[in-house]
Amino acid sequence: MSDDRLDAIRDVIRDVPDFPKPGIMFKDITPLLADPRAFNLCLDLMAERYDAVPFDAIVGIESRGFIFGAALASRMRKAFVPARKPGKLPAQTYQVEYELEYGTDAVEMHKDAITQGERALIVDDLIATGGTAWATGELIRRLGGEVIGAAFVVELSFLKGRERLAPMDTFSLVDY
Ligand code: AMP
Repeated sequence: MSDDRLDAIRDVIRDVPDFPKPGIMFKDITPLLADPRAFNLCLDLMAERYDAVPFDAIVGIESRGFIFGAALASRMRKAFVPARKPGKLPAQTYQVEYELEYGTDAVEMHKDAITQGERALIVDDLIATGGTAWATGELIRRLGGEVIGAAFVVELSFLKGRERLAPMDTFSLVDY
C-alpha cells in the first residue's frame, strides 16, 4: 500500500484534545469527510482489501460507521446493515452488552438483519478498545451470520482492540 495515500488520509484527521472528556484525544474524521480525495482513498483502500473476499453484507456501527460502511456497501454492491445504540431500531432486536472502563454499553441489530450463513464485514471509523466491534461481531453470530473481518479508518493500537477482537481479522488504514 503506498504511503502517499495513507499520508493523504492521516493529514485530514484532526486531533481534538479533551473531547468528550478530559484526557481523551478525539480523532475527528469530519475534515476527512469534507475532502473528497481523502474520503475516496479510504473507500478505495478498503474495497481493494476485500475485493477478493466473498461476503454479503457490511455492518456499520453507529454513527460514523454508517458513513464509511454505507459508502463502501454502495461501492461494493453489498447489503448495508446498521448496528445501533439501544432503543433506536424500530423492529424486533437482539442486544449485546460490552464492558467500558466504567460500566457497560450495548449495541443492537434487527433480528432479521442478517440471515443464516450470511457473511458480514464490520465497518467503523475507529477502533479503540475494540469493545463495540466485539459486541457487533457477537450480534452477527447470534443472528446466524459469519464475520469475515472488521475494517476501520483509524486504529488506536495502544488500546489493543485488535487483541480483543482476535481471532477476528482486523484491518485499519492509519494507526496511532
Ligand atoms: P471501542 O469500543 O473502545 O473500540 O471504541 C470505538 C468507538 O468509539 C468507535 O465507534 C469510535 O468512533 C469511538 N471512539 C473511541 N475512542 C475514540 C477517539 N479517541 N476518537 C474518536 N472516536 C473514538
